[in-house]
Amino acid sequence: MKYISTRGKSEAVSSAMAIKKGLCEDGGLYFPDEIPSLTLDEIKALCGDGYASRAAKVMYKFLCDEYTYEELLSECEGAYCEDSFPGGPAPISKLGERIRVLELWHGPTAAFKDMALQIMPRLFVKAVKKTGDTRKALILVATSGDTGKAALEGYKDVDGVGISVFYPVDGVSRVQKLQMATQEGKNVEVNSVIGNFDDAQNGVKKIFSDSEINAKLNEKGVFLSSANSINWGRLVPQVVYYISAYCDLLKDGDIELGEEIDICVPTGNFGNILAAYIAKLMGLPVHSFVCASNKNNVLTDFFVSGNYDRNRPFYATTSPSMDILISSNLERLLYLTCGQAETETLMNELKEKGSYTVSDEAKAKIGSEFTGLSCDEEQTACEIKHVYEDYNYLCDTHTAVGLYCAEKYVKENNSGRKLVCASTASPYKFSPAVLKALTGEVPENELDAMELLEKKTGVPIPKPLYGIAQRKVRFDPNNAIKAEDMPLSALNFQRF
Ligand SMILES: *Cc1c(COP(=O)(O)O)cnc(C)c1O
Repeated sequence: MKYISTRGKSEAVSSAMAIKKGLCEDGGLYFPDEIPSLTLDEIKALCGDGYASRAAKVMYKFLCDEYTYEELLSECEGAYCEDSFPGGPAPISKLGERIRVLELWHGPTAAFKDMALQIMPRLFVKAVKKTGDTRKALILVATSGDTGKAALEGYKDVDGVGISVFYPVDGVSRVQKLQMATQEGKNVEVNSVIGNFDDAQNGVKKIFSDSEINAKLNEKGVFLSSANSINWGRLVPQVVYYISAYCDLLKDGDIELGEEIDICVPTGNFGNILAAYIAKLMGLPVHSFVCASNKNNVLTDFFVSGNYDRNRPFYATTSPSMDILISSNLERLLYLTCGQAETETLMNELKEKGSYTVSDEAKAKIGSEFTGLSCDEEQTACEIKHVYEDYNYLCDTHTAVGLYCAEKYVKENNSGRKLVCASTASPYKFSPAVLKALTGEVPENELDAMELLEKKTGVPIPKPLYGIAQRKVRFDPNNAIKAEDMPLSALNFQRF
């Protein structure tokens, strides 16, 4: 198996090279040239395995050109251990007759990004070795909250790697800021940046494309890499939990082998839902995908009209990790639907005009499997209250967007199919909004909301967030740097 560009203008590479490089030279994203199959017999057999073996077996199908099964199993056992995911990585809760909630936030940072970012650094380090590169890697991350912390936890104290995270000083929640400011590990650096997320993101992009900086770092034996969700190394671990969830439902007698399910995913960059779609292409019995968006509903409009248009107002919502106008991983769905040449054309149009329209044929093909639904701010708050009061289930704002769309879809489709909805963050990561939805009130200090929410619901605060205000601040958020000083900060990175 080789990895090729969605735009077709870069050479095919091995899985290790795809993971090391992240992005293709032609601007496209790596995708396997064939999708490996998963038979019903294999699914049945996976039911007897724990999460780590399931992960190793599924990932081996995509990475077997460069990684051995034993290697993957040992790394998966390390990544998905009880210490990092107490109680198991992906438990399922029942919400009524048809909806099953797949909780993906039981890792070290209480958001679903951990499911990929606990294993990806391990794949990355091996990828660097396997491609014969002896340099050190400096991982640069611009974050609006969850990715930065999850990447820091994944890469902390990994030999031969340094990681530097940039976040907008006024653009992340208080808890997210504290999570990053108190980060441990000898090879990590955290910078608050004056400006918004785009300023931080543009700063990182500039560093990546600056040949002088790259040359200077190379002289020091360092190369740059990223940890964002366009990297194949982040996508492939996400395919696993949809397959694993199917196995768990099967084991529970909730479904029968071969029975189709639906999947709903609260979506931002389109990475998580694309991973679910890849599971279906492998052979997982899935009927439909519900793509759930918040008030930034560019994807919802796309599924209805075939027109993707980012020229629209940007809303800062209570589900900030889904506040995105360009969903990068949609490019991989376009590639699968329209092929490389058309994808390149569409992506050029997006860059030049901020919009594109797919053919009627492509629209119909996508529409036969995907339904786009959206949920505004008021509906999000009502959903949190409704699932808490009617099902005694506490969910965060992102999951609420997913559940609102899932319930709507189930109501409109009398198929009787079970629907698995991804739950992407602990409610305690967004306590003020959750508390406000439940009680109508928020305390002045955001951190008090966490304890009040625990008192009200009796649901325990997860360990990674417990006592966060008392931890030692290592990277003072008040020492914000200017975006134009970011290159210097990368050049001076010393913490390898
Ligand atoms: C990143 C994130 C999402 C969006 O996931 P995508 O893969 O970008 O679609 C949703 N919810 C939470 C809590 C997240 O951190």
